[in-house]
Amino acid sequence: MEKRIIALARKAFHLFPHKIDEPKFKVLERDEFEDLLLKSPIIKHHKEDIDFSPALSCFKGDNVEVCFCPEIIRHFNEKDDFIIALALHELYHIWNRIMVNSEEEAIMSENLVHYELGKDFPEYAKLLY
Ligand SMILES: [Zn+2]
Repeated sequence: MEKRIIALARKAFHLFPHKIDEPKFKVLERDEFEDLLLKSPIIKHHKEDIDFSPALSCFKGDNVEVCFCPEIIRHFNEKDDFIIALALHELYHIWNRIMVNSEEEAIMSENLVHYELGKDFPEYAKLLY
């Protein structure tokens, strides 16, 4: 599954309509992935949402890593289109580059991505919500 996720994420990158540097795509085990998620402003306050967060982006200076967790993806849907939709969602976060520090900002950032993905790729957006 790891290779398939990376290949689909690259495909999403090629579909993405805005110019951004290609992020590093990584596939993580649940433990490592959870450690990253728990640092995010939303999940910090809503641990129950871990099971609803199959991918996340980490900004490290100029580099961005997009991480996927196969175990959580499997809870939802492992179809190719779903994984592409997840990756596209993360690419909009990278394009927007909104640094979030509070839960409120995180929700605004999610809403913006939701709007952008829905505008450019309504079929993929539908798979995520
Ligand atoms: Zn998001």
